[in-house]
Formats: sequence, C-alpha cells, structure tokens
Amino acid sequence: MKDIIIGSAKSEPGKLTYGSIDGIELPTGIIEKIPVIIAQGVKEGPTFFLTANVHGYELTGIAVIHELMTEELAQELKGTLVAIPTLNPSAFRRYHHKAVYDDRDPNRLFPEGMFADKKETEEDKEYPKHYEHITNKIYSYFEQYADYHIDFHNHSLLSIPYSILDRLFYHEDSQKEEAEDLLKKQEEMVKSFGMLVCAEFPANKYLKMKLHRSVSGSAFNSLRIPAFTAELGENLYLVPEVISGSVKGTRNVLRWAGMLDGPNEKITEFPVPKPKERLRRFDHPRVKRSGIVRFIVKPGDYVKKGQPVAKFTDIHGRPLDDGYIRTEYDGYMVALQTRMTVFPNDTIAEMGIKDEYPLIAKTPSK
Ligand SMILES: [Zn+2]
Repeated sequence: MKDIIIGSAKSEPGKLTYGSIDGIELPTGIIEKIPVIIAQGVKEGPTFFLTANVHGYELTGIAVIHELMTEELAQELKGTLVAIPTLNPSAFRRYHHKAVYDDRDPNRLFPEGMFADKKETEEDKEYPKHYEHITNKIYSYFEQYADYHIDFHNHSLLSIPYSILDRLFYHEDSQKEEAEDLLKKQEEMVKSFGMLVCAEFPANKYLKMKLHRSVSGSAFNSLRIPAFTAELGENLYLVPEVISGSVKGTRNVLRWAGMLDGPNEKITEFPVPKPKERLRRFDHPRVKRSGIVRFIVKPGDYVKKGQPVAKFTDIHGRPLDDGYIRTEYDGYMVALQTRMTVFPNDTIAEMGIKDEYPLIAKTPSK
C-alpha cells in the first residue's frame, strides 16, 4: 500500500490513524490545526477525500465522518479514505459561517488553479491571505493524493438533502473530449450518492460567484478529480435520519469507486425526489415589493407554474397583491428562506428547475 502522509497523520494498512495539518500560525502564536483521519485498507485502490464544515455552522458532515471512519471500514476498504472533519476550526468553535480571521466566504477561497491569470505581473499579483493559507495547503494535498472527493455542507434550516453537479470548464477545443469523459464519471459518482441531484448555476454565473474556487469546484475543475458538494439538509443542528442516510450514500459512492464490496444501501431515512429531467439550482420566486412572507409549501414539495408557495402580507397581516407569492416555474422547493421579512428583488427560496444549460463550457477568453 502506498504511504499517505498528511500533516502529522500517516496511513497504516488495515488501520485508522489520526493527526493534523498546521493550517496557519496566528499572530498570537496559536497554530490553527486542521484534523485529519486516515482509514487505509489492506488492498490497493484509489485515494478518496471527504471534507466537512468549511462553513462553521454546517455540522452534519462532521457526524457523517465520525460514523463512517471505523476500524471495520479500514479492514474492508480497497485503497485509502482521508477525512477532514472540519476545514475551518475557528468558524466551527463559534458556529459561524466564516473563519475568525477572514471575513470572506471560505468556500470561495480555494486556488484559482486553471482559471489563474497567466499574464499577471509581480505588481498586480494577489498573494494568498488569511484563510487562503489553509485552502492552499488542503488543495496541495488533493493535488498530491486525491482520486475522488466529496465536500459536505448544509444549505439552510429549511432544506432537503441534495447533491450539486458542478459545471465543467475547458480552455482549448482539443480538451473537450477529456472534459466529456470526466463529466461522465462525475455524473455517475454524484448519482451513486443516491440523493436529489441539482446542477450548479449556469456557466457565467458559476464563474461570477467564484464557484470554481469552492472546495469541490476547484478539485473538479482545476485538478480534474471527480468531486462534488453534498448539501445535507438542515444546518445548525443534527438530524439523526440525515446522518444515517448520508453515511449510506457515502458508502455507496465508495462502492461506485470500487473501494467497498456489497450491494448498494437504499436511503430510506427521508424521501428522495425522483425528477424525470436534469435539474439546476435556481433562486426563485423573487418578490417585487417589501412585505411579510409565510410559506405554505415545505422543503422537498413539487410545485407547478402559477402555484402559490407563500402568503404575502403587510405588517398588519393584510394581503399584498393577491395575497400570495407564486412560482413561475415547475420544480422542487429545495430550500426555503427562514426570514419572514423581504425587500424588493429578494428571492424567497432555492428551487430545482429543469436545466437547459450545457454542463460543459469553454472558459471565456480574457
Ligand atoms: Zn456550506
């Protein structure tokens, strides 16, 4: 078996081993350590990375990793599973979205990779700062060892578990075939997780939102590793059924990767929508005026164009417009906003609607 050394963690065939990466040294002398667990099998196979909690209040992935990483698993595995239960310990300690020492979204701070501006001069070069010191280290371990990767998140308090299929970019026409092969693998991998799949926002918006610098977006696009984000339902607290279903899903992906034997385990802990067509994430409906919102649908519901999804009133409780906010699209209510107040142009939910955009796109020329 090949040696996998990540920070102070070193693989041992048939065993679970532990250690940590020195993430960043803080000015006060504390070293922010990133915990690492390695389960190595006794038979050869791929190296699979699981990461969680880049957003500090998204907790489910930590529990999934704790449930999954056992001595028994190490005995059964072909290859090596590397788990990082929290990518962002300072955010986890205070149940916050972001690191204490960096106010930017940590899931947009992985390296530019293939999207980096090659014409950059010494003068306009952007140096990695704060949390980017950690993301650069994690990325370099992906680069050195990873064949596959899943990053665990939680969307919001009112959301269903689902997985995200990233858009894939290529530079030259000669790379299109390679991209199509990679995408095919990626689609199989995401499907094997067994939850609802939504494609990411369309290519232009994907780049605008810097999703190519998310944990899995950078692994997938820049390192060309099959990698996806799993949104495991409610954030801020733990739902035992979601943990148990997600452990099954992850084990199913390991089976797909040829790392575990045995039949797939069906997720029975929560309903999984089965759309007839590919869906994409879409922020909708959008309100035209300020008001008070009360949902009349639940996360996971299927809605038809024109159907009311929420009551819409003023602060006195009197109806605004016809008293309802309606969807203009058919689709699934994947996540509902938890706020009651809205301002003009706010969206109140994320829906999964029919995806008519290509999954593969050429990078725009600069
Ligand atoms: Zn997240």
